[in-house]
Amino acid sequence: MKSIILLGGPGVGKGTLADFLKKQTDYIHVSTGDMLRAAIQSGSPVGLEAKSFMETGRLVPDSVVLRIVEERISQDSTGARFMFDGFPRTIEQAEGLDAIFKRLGGSLNHVFNLVVERPVLLRRLTGRRVCKTCGAVYHVTSRPPKQEGVCDVDAGELYQRTDDSEATILNRLEVYEKQTVPLISFYRKKGLLRDIDAGGKAEETDALVLKVLTA
Ligand code: ADP
Repeated sequence: MKSIILLGGPGVGKGTLADFLKKQTDYIHVSTGDMLRAAIQSGSPVGLEAKSFMETGRLVPDSVVLRIVEERISQDSTGARFMFDGFPRTIEQAEGLDAIFKRLGGSLNHVFNLVVERPVLLRRLTGRRVCKTCGAVYHVTSRPPKQEGVCDVDAGELYQRTDDSEATILNRLEVYEKQTVPLISFYRKKGLLRDIDAGGKAEETDALVLKVLTA
């Protein structure tokens, strides 16, 4: 089983790229952010543990995240291919993922490092809107829905994530720099890293990644 990682700070467009790859490939989308938000909504023990971390833009403890990822991976057949979005976010999580692959079978094929300049990131994050029911991602100016506040896919209500406020965004960027950036050299040393310019239109990023996957 070969899997991929979508790596990059908040706002680089991991979720938007994942939506595209879900349609174009057989990779199964594993977003720890989505799984944690679902856990909070359902009021499960994991959700209760994660809530305060997420609302302030801090990372949820590695042990919690590794547990939900292992549970998710073990639900699928050993031949399944996964695309990890927002995971791993720390060296400990990356090492934990290696251990999970050893236990369940599997390995990494590519780590896509999505690169976007900071001013572009801030613009993207403050304008982001998400569908309450299907999770589709929009932007008030660069990717608006046909009808304001309504999802094109399933007519669900669009909302602004509570952690997309300006103060929390700055905190998430700082957390990314400190805790996740070390993963870039971690995976570069393993020869798995593919740098992708993700500062342009979503379609351009999609095409760059698809080219690597189909090469
Ligand atoms: P973004 O990539 O825009 O920050 P995510 O949905 O990936 O959005 O993550 C939102 C929040 O969920 C993070 O700020 C963090 O609190 C929590 N989270 C998601 N994935 C992880 C992870 N792998 N490790 C720790 N915390 C996580």
